[in-house]
This record gives sequence, C-alpha cells and structure tokens, in this order.
Amino acid sequence: MSDNAQASQAFQSALSVIETVEPRIAGAIRSELTDQRESLKLIASENYASPAVLLTMGNWLSDKYAEGTVGHRFYAGCQNVDTVESVAAEHARELFGAEYAYVQPHSGIDANLVAFWSILAHRVEKPALAELGAKTVNDLSESDWETLRRSFGDQRLLGMSLDAGGHLTHGFRPNISGKMFHQRSYGTDPTSQLLDYDALAAQAKEFKPLIIVAGYSAYPRRVNFAKMREIADSVGATLMVDMAHFAGLVAGKVFTGDEDPVPHAHVVTTTTHKSLRGPRGGMVLATQEYADSVDRGCPLVLGGPLSNMMAAKAVALAEARTDNFRSYAQQVADNAQALAEGFLKRGASLVTGGTDNHLVLVDVGGFGLTGRQAESALLDSGVVTNRNSVPNDPQGAWYTSGVRLGTPALTSRGFGPEEFDRVAELIVDVLKGTEPTSTSAGAPSKAKYAIANGLAERTHAAASELLDKHPLYPGLEL
Ligand code: PLP
Repeated sequence: MSDNAQASQAFQSALSVIETVEPRIAGAIRSELTDQRESLKLIASENYASPAVLLTMGNWLSDKYAEGTVGHRFYAGCQNVDTVESVAAEHARELFGAEYAYVQPHSGIDANLVAFWSILAHRVEKPALAELGAKTVNDLSESDWETLRRSFGDQRLLGMSLDAGGHLTHGFRPNISGKMFHQRSYGTDPTSQLLDYDALAAQAKEFKPLIIVAGYSAYPRRVNFAKMREIADSVGATLMVDMAHFAGLVAGKVFTGDEDPVPHAHVVTTTTHKSLRGPRGGMVLATQEYADSVDRGCPLVLGGPLSNMMAAKAVALAEARTDNFRSYAQQVADNAQALAEGFLKRGASLVTGGTDNHLVLVDVGGFGLTGRQAESALLDSGVVTNRNSVPNDPQGAWYTSGVRLGTPALTSRGFGPEEFDRVAELIVDVLKGTEPTSTSAGAPSKAKYAIANGLAERTHAAASELLDKHPLYPGLEL
C-alpha cells in the first residue's frame, strides 16, 4: 500500500473542504473509517482499497462525458479519458493475459449485463443480420426487427443456483437475467456439496443453453474451468465466467492452469473491488472473437463511463501486477485454510467441508441458529459477516442457515493464519453462546436471539486486540 502519512494530508484537506458544504457527509466519512478500523471485517466481497486507489476516484475526471470507446467518442475533448481507459485496459489485458479488456462497466451487475447482451449480439444478432443482408439493426424492416427482437428472449442460460453459491445475475428469476433468458440452474452434489461436472454435462446436454455461466459468490471451492469449457463446447454454448469474487486470486496467480478462467472462457466478467482490492466497478475480458460485441457496452446497456473510476481501476491493476500483490493473494488463500481449520477443529460444520479459495461458509444450523441470528449476534460482538444460504437451505433465502466469511479484507490489514485461527475461536464462542428467543407471541423466532452475559463485550475486546496489532491505514490520521 502507498504511503499513508502522505495520504493523511490529502484526506484531511478533502474533508475540510467537504465540511464547509455538508458537515454531515464529512462526519459520515470519518465515522466509516473508525467503524472499519474497529471491526473484524469478514465480508467476503469487501476489502480495503489503497489510498492511491481511493484518491484517484475523487477528481474532475468524474465531470467528463465520454460515451463511446477510446478514439471513438460521441463527445469532444476526451483525450485524457482516452489515456485513462487505454491504460486501465492495457493493465487488465496484461495482468490477466486476456485478448481484450473492457473497463467501462460501473459494477459487477453492469459487467454481466454487458456480457449477456454482447453474447446475444455475437451469437444471435450477427448471424441474423448476415442472413438478412443488413449491416446494423437500424437497416431492418419493422417485421424483421420484431422477429429478431423476439428471438433474444428465446435464448437459454444455465447458471449456478443461488443456494449453491451462484449470484443473482446468473439467472435468478427476480433478476433481469432470469427474465431475459429461459433459465435453469445447476446445483452441487447433495452429499459432497461440490460441483458435479458429470451432472452438469448431462444437464447441459438436455437443456442446450446458449450460455453457461460459471463463477460464484458463495462457493468455497475452486472451479475447473477447462472442464467447464469442455461442457460448454459439447453443447455449443458460450462459456461466461463471473470471477467477481476471486479475480484477486487469478491476478495474484493463485488460480492458474485449469483454475484460471481467462484461457478457457469466451467471456470473463469481474468486479474490481473484492479480492482485486480496487475501486467499486466492473470489467469484462473477452477473446478477440467477442471483442467488438463487448466493445459496444455503450450503447448496449451503458451510458457514459465513470472516468474517475476507470482511472482508479488502472491504479488498482497497476498495484495488482506487483510481487506484493501476489504474496497478498497467496496469503488470502492460506488464511482461508487457517480459518476453515479453526472452525473444523472446534466442531463447526462448513459447506463442502472446507475451502480452497478465499471464503468459508459456516452452516450455523448446527448451533441451533439461523444465519440472521448468527449474523446479528456476531455484529453485536464486533464481527462483521453476512448471512448466506447453504445448499437446499431449510430457512430460505432471507433467514438462511449460513454465515459467509472471507479473508481478503483482514489479509489486507496483515492478518496471518494464527490470527485467523483466533478469529474462528471468537466466532465459535459467540455462536455457542447465542440462543434463539421467542417472538412476542411466544413462537420460536428466526430473527431474535440472546447472547450470554458479557460475551459480546469480551469478544469485542478480543477483536480489538487483534485489530490493534494490524491497524488499518497506519499513519493515516483524520
Ligand atoms: N457477480 C458476483 C459473483 C458477485 O458476487 C457480485 C456481488 O456481490 C456481483 C456480480 C455484482 O457486483 P456489484 O455489486 O458490483 O454489481
């Protein structure tokens, strides 16, 4: 991370300027740093971006409109945005070994929308236009356009189910991905809770999807993307991998060979703010074959790119090229192992029995709690996690039976395996010391709970001891 003492001055000046306009916002920014400093952040999708990344976001690049692509903008005066976008895309291509990179998406959901619609453009629109002898959709007659427009909605998508660890953008019905495609989900093996590639191959053969989505938000294991590509090829599907969660482990060369999605997928999407430790944002990587379709993210589903965020992506990607980042990524995985072992040796049950990536999914049903109760009791104790479904969750998607924990953030603070073992101990103690209570009508509650006297305070104090050893942004004073 860059020099925090130097960054202090920049943040202090920025806050004093903000204070003169809206002191409550300056106050909230200050408080957020305090809160983040003082809690054990185990949310698997969060991290701490470097001061260099944070400072790159707040400037006048934000004021520039630049719809279009590098050298081909719908606005004048975009030379600096062109530099920003080119540098970010160059870093992304080099870091991930991708043929093409598109750094405009504002978020992971945007990146997935760009990917879906560019796959449809490549696989459905292009052949239809060629057959009709038209160059663009604007050249089509009303009736040909209507036929083509309807055919987008006839396409099939096969993605990982939410309760097996997939993301809502992978075909979940309440999300647009579940509405724009005929959608089916693949799950995991009911006994091992691991991906079953043979079952997936059989399902793909029967369903014949246009797109198979691999990748996850809450699956604590590595995926064999070479196998995924074989399955996609066997049914003529496009393989799209959403590596939002584990992009940092790919960038840091922890996931290589069959576990690296980039050489195997046609299209790879990611967020830039989770294990990759960059700014909030998304990115799409693609093979040359899909490049010109992905390049049309605007006007397909995006408007003007957020140039300040693309600049921050470039800075984060530059950081991710370093040996330091590689050691960080390896430490993220090693720490997850230590966390998982810490739970297992204390009798907790983990989905899939462990982890080999950056996250652990604890089945808290064994402690007699719902995910909601566990999440709340842990928060009361200074441990920030999020509840998450487990496969075939008996408590449903709101209350859930799981708590998802990730190592990227605390690893950024310098936590090692011993500290993660202690974190597991603290969490197990809280889960053991928490009991469900009843609703006011006397029925068992899925949300209410009671923590043993003094336990939350003791856990807070123990967490503070760990956190004090690894201060967040040391030297950064506000
Ligand atoms: N894809 C996956 C696998 C995710 O886990 C997430 C976020 O949690 C997203 C996409 C969406 O990212 P964003 O919140 O930036 O839209």
